[in-house]
Amino acid sequence: MKVLEVKNLSVGYKSLVGKFRVLHNVTFSVESGEIIGIVGESGSGKSTLGHSIIRLLPPNAYFEGGEILFQGKDITKIPEKEMVSIRGNGIFMIFQNPLNSLNPVKTVEYQLLEAVRVKASRDGKNFDEKEAREIILNAVKDVRLPDPEEIIKKYPHQLSGGQVQRVVIAMALILRPKILIADEPTSALDVTIQAQVVKLFKQLREEEGISILFISHDISLVYAIADRIIVMYAGRIMEDGNIEEVIKNPMHPYTQGLISSIPTISKKEGELRVIEGSPPSFLVLPTGCKFHPRCNKVMDICRNKEPELKEINNRRVRCWLYE
Ligand code: SF4
Ligand code: MG
Repeated sequence: MKVLEVKNLSVGYKSLVGKFRVLHNVTFSVESGEIIGIVGESGSGKSTLGHSIIRLLPPNAYFEGGEILFQGKDITKIPEKEMVSIRGNGIFMIFQNPLNSLNPVKTVEYQLLEAVRVKASRDGKNFDEKEAREIILNAVKDVRLPDPEEIIKKYPHQLSGGQVQRVVIAMALILRPKILIADEPTSALDVTIQAQVVKLFKQLREEEGISILFISHDISLVYAIADRIIVMYAGRIMEDGNIEEVIKNPMHPYTQGLISSIPTISKKEGELRVIEGSPPSFLVLPTGCKFHPRCNKVMDICRNKEPELKEINNRRVRCWLYE
């Protein structure tokens, strides 16, 4: 069952030097219980995509076209009041800066209890004080925060970055939304805790059928968690397919570059290769294929005409090599 459908989504930003487009005709859908890794270098539009889906874009951003359907409703158009109840209940986002998810003047305990309250009212349940405390302490233990009893008495600014991140993940564990968007959720965590978080996310999917959009620049991390991978570049989907198939046989030259730059995935030693150059600025995108200035397979047509995202064998690829 589809839980989310993003159709032809374009998002622009207004700036002092004019308007520019950060997401360009993005189309994909999310099945219930599916974990999708959204991958790209910084500046590929992947965070903007997450912020669009939860409708928390910066004030200078605007929806230019397309729709985002959640439970049959286009959330680019519903009133803010309705969106507020979807956030947390239906769609929850762990931001790259997790402090953005917490209220600075309330204790961790207060905020986690609030999450319990939201979940209880959604599910038509009632928890007494003792049960509610047990739920939050369990969530805090699940994310491996030390001294749960002590840590919940603290305010966000009294915690380290990694601790704040884990509090927000604990909040997601309590809320159990339909869709969890996680933007670089483990970037402030050490490797052991990172592995634990990946395990918790998978468990959430198993137990509750939660769909997860796991946004990351780290393909090997995405490989550990996702069923499917969407590769973004310059605000466009470049490739989309089953994770095993894409890692084994990346079709788009950009995906090939990303994969061959990972030591754990690229097989032969000494073959490590980074993609030269850097992603273009949205203010001055290249003509034709947006990846052409960095592509080692560039052809004449690539410089003049942008390829469409085409479906080939269960995969979608945007590249003239496959026309
Ligand atoms: Fe490279 Fe051309 Fe394919 Fe773009 S369209 S990725 S430039 S081969
Ligand atoms: Mg980002």
